[in-house]
Amino acid sequence: MTVPATERGGQPAATVDPARQAQAKRYARIRRWLSLANLGIGALFLALIFALGAHLRLRDALVGVGLAAWQPAHGWSPLLVAVYALSLTLVYELLTLPLGIYSGFTLPHRFGLSRQSLGSWLGDQAKGMVLGLVLTTGIIEILYLLLATQPQTWWLWLAVIMLFFTVILANLAPVLILPIFYKLTPMPEGELRDRLLRMAERAHTSVRGVYVMGMSRKTTEGNAAVMGLGNTRRIVVGDTIMQEYTPDEVEVVLAHELGHHVHADIWKGIAVQTVLTLAGLALVNLGLHAGVAQPTFGYTGLADVATMPLLALLFGIYGFVTGPLGNTYSRIVERQADQYALDMTRDPASFISAFHRLANQNLAQLDPNPVIEALFYDHPAIGKRIRHAESWRAAQGG
Ligand SMILES: [Zn+2]
Repeated sequence: MTVPATERGGQPAATVDPARQAQAKRYARIRRWLSLANLGIGALFLALIFALGAHLRLRDALVGVGLAAWQPAHGWSPLLVAVYALSLTLVYELLTLPLGIYSGFTLPHRFGLSRQSLGSWLGDQAKGMVLGLVLTTGIIEILYLLLATQPQTWWLWLAVIMLFFTVILANLAPVLILPIFYKLTPMPEGELRDRLLRMAERAHTSVRGVYVMGMSRKTTEGNAAVMGLGNTRRIVVGDTIMQEYTPDEVEVVLAHELGHHVHADIWKGIAVQTVLTLAGLALVNLGLHAGVAQPTFGYTGLADVATMPLLALLFGIYGFVTGPLGNTYSRIVERQADQYALDMTRDPASFISAFHRLANQNLAQLDPNPVIEALFYDHPAIGKRIRHAESWRAAQGG
C-alpha cells in the first residue's frame, strides 16, 4: 500500500541538518531564559501587590467611586469584579509587553521561523487578547458569584461549569476560533485524501474531514492536529507540511493524528484536565479560606475582589507544580499515537524521514536535556520518536 522508500516522488529521505541542530540548541536556551524571566516578572508583580497593599487599595478606590453599588446577588458586584480584573490584567500585560514582543516576534524572526509582519502579529495578539479577556472575565464573574453564594461548595460548582465550558470550546475551536487566525480549506481530492480515507476505513472510524491550515503566510514551522468534538471533529494539517513533505511522510503525519482520533485523546485529555482542575480548586479553596480567616490580611470576606491576586498566586503555584504531570500524560498519549502511525502505515522509513524534516523545519532539538524534557515537553523528544520507529522496524525483522 505504501510506496517504497526509493520511489518517494524523486525526493530523497530527509536527514538531520547539524547546523540546524546547533541553532535549535541556541533557540531552546534563549526561550528557556525568556520563560524564566516571564515567571520572575509574574512573581515580582504579585509580591509587589502584597507588599504595597495594592490589592486592598485598588478595591477601596473602586468601591469609593461606586462600582460596588450594583449587586444582583448578595455580595456579588459584577462591575467591581470586572473593573478590578481588567485593571490587574492591564498592568500585568504592560509589564510583560516588551518580553512578549521579543519572544513572540523578534526571536522567531531572528531564527527565520516567522514570516509575519509586525502589524499582522500585533493584530493576532489583539484578537487573542480580546478572546482571552472575554473568556476569563466570564469565568471570574462566575467564580465571584459562587464565592458569594456558595462559600463551601463553590469549587465543585466551578469545576462542573469549567468542564462544560471546555467541552463547548473544544467543539467550537476548529469552526470558530482557529479560523480567526488561520484559513482552513478542505484537503483537495487526490491520492493523499484517498489514502487517508482508506486508513480511516481500516481503522473502522469515520473522520468528518481533513483540512489544510494556511500557516505558511505566517510561519515556516510545520504542525498538525486533530481538533473538535462530535460534529466538528477533524484532522487539521499545516500547508507547511503539505508543501514540504513527501506524500508518504504526510501520510505518516495523518496516521499519527488519526491515532489520536481513534484513541479518543481529546475526551481523555478533558477528563485528565477536569481531575487536575478539581484537585486544584479543592486546594485553592483551603488556601482561600485560610487567607480570609486572617484579620491582618484585610479581606472583608470570601467574595472580596481583593482576594484576586491571592487566587492568582494559589492557581499559579498549583499550575507550576502540576504542569509536568500533564506533560508526562501528554507524552504517553503522543507515543501511543506514534505507535499507531507505525502500525497503520508500516513505513518506518517515512516516519523517520518526516521527523528529521520536522526537526530541521521547527528548529527542534533531537535530544534535549532529559530533565528539561521531563518537565516541559508535551511531546517526546524527536530523537526518542525516531528511535521508537527504529526499534519498531527492528522488531519487524527489517
Ligand atoms: Zn500528536
